Amino acid sequence: MAYDQNNIFAKILRGEIPCNKIYEDDYVLAFHDIAPKAKVHILVIPKGEYTDIVDFGVNGSADELKGFYSAVAKIAAEQGLTQDGFRSIANTGSFGGQEVPHYHIHLLGGERIGPMTSL
Ligand code: AMP
Repeated sequence: MAYDQNNIFAKILRGEIPCNKIYEDDYVLAFHDIAPKAKVHILVIPKGEYTDIVDFGVNGSADELKGFYSAVAKIAAEQGLTQDGFRSIANTGSFGGQEVPHYHIHLLGGERIGPMTSL
């Protein structure tokens, strides 16, 4: 799937629409989900143009991958998620329920998260 420059996270990265920012560095932007599914619901996105976890894993550079997952760990700790645990989700493609075609990880926590899947 070709990367869609007009997806909503691309617009957030370009500063065309606002977000409730938590963290930013050279590799990632993290912000609160606009429709939280848990007490804490954070989205972490790479700054590069990757459609999903497969695209990022195959085409991301070693620096981008390291930068991204290091930031995920840092954000989880800073947001108080690591002590009691949290769930990370990367919805992928239509069967995975991905709505925004820019790779992102959901970090859900602050309370016990329910069943892993609902089909
Ligand atoms: P996914 O279904 O994995 O693609 O998740 C996309 C997520 O982006 C959903 O949880 C939405 O609530 C969230 N979302 C959509 N638009 C925005 C926005 N402008 N700011 C923050 N989160 C958003």
